[in-house]
Amino acid sequence: KHFQDYSLSPEILRALDSLQYNKPTEVQQKVIPLVLEKHDVVVRSQTGSGKTAAYAIPICELVEWEENKPQALILTPTRELAVQVKEDITNIGRHRRIKAAAVYGKQPIAIQKTEIKQKTHVVVGTPGRVLDHLNRGNLATEKIRYLVIDEADEMFNMGFIDQVEAILRELSDNRVTMLFSATFPDEVKALSTQYMKTPITIEI
Ligand code: AMP
Repeated sequence: KHFQDYSLSPEILRALDSLQYNKPTEVQQKVIPLVLEKHDVVVRSQTGSGKTAAYAIPICELVEWEENKPQALILTPTRELAVQVKEDITNIGRHRRIKAAAVYGKQPIAIQKTEIKQKTHVVVGTPGRVLDHLNRGNLATEKIRYLVIDEADEMFNMGFIDQVEAILRELSDNRVTMLFSATFPDEVKALSTQYMKTPITIEI
C-alpha cells in the first residue's frame, strides 16, 4: 500500500514525503480511506502505531482552506498530546496552509481565544479547556465537521468523560466522529453507541 493509493492531494503527499512517511502504517491503511469517505470509526490502537496521522491526514485533506471557522476538533487527555497533535497537523497540512491551534489549561484563555479566532481550521485541546471556550462563545461549533476523541480510555481514567459528553452535545450531528482508544471499558463503548453513527470498528 502507498499513500498515492488514496485520494490525497499533491500538497498532502508532498508533506508526507518531507516527513519521510514512505508508506502508511496498518492503522493508517484502514482509517484513511474510511474517513475520506466520511465514515465514523472506532479504532483500537496503541501509541506508536501512527494513529495520529491516521486521523490527521484525512482531516488535513478534507478541511476547506477558505472557511474561516473551525472545521475539526480533536480532544486529547493531556496538554502534551494536544501540542504534539497540533504540530503533526501543522506538518501534514503545511502545503495546504492548514492552521491548527492547541488549547489547554494553565495558559491564559485570552491568548487562546485570539488564536482560535484567527482562521483556525483545526482546534486541538483538552476537554476542560475546550468546554470553557465553548461556554464563553470563543469557539464556533457550526462548521465543525470532524471530531476526534483521542485516547478515549485515558479521558475516562482522568475523569473527563462528562466534559467530553458535554462537548459532543454542543456539536452539529452533521459530522464525522473518530474515536481512538487502547482499551474499551464500558464507558468508552457507551460514548461510541450514543454519539456515533454506525461506526466501523477497526482493531489493530
Ligand atoms: P503515533 O502512534 O501517532 O504516536 O505515531 C508514532 C510515530 O510514528 C510518530 O513519531 C510519527 O511521526 C511516526 N509515523 C506516523 N506515521 C508514519 C508513517 N506512515 N511512516 C513513518 N513514520 C510514521
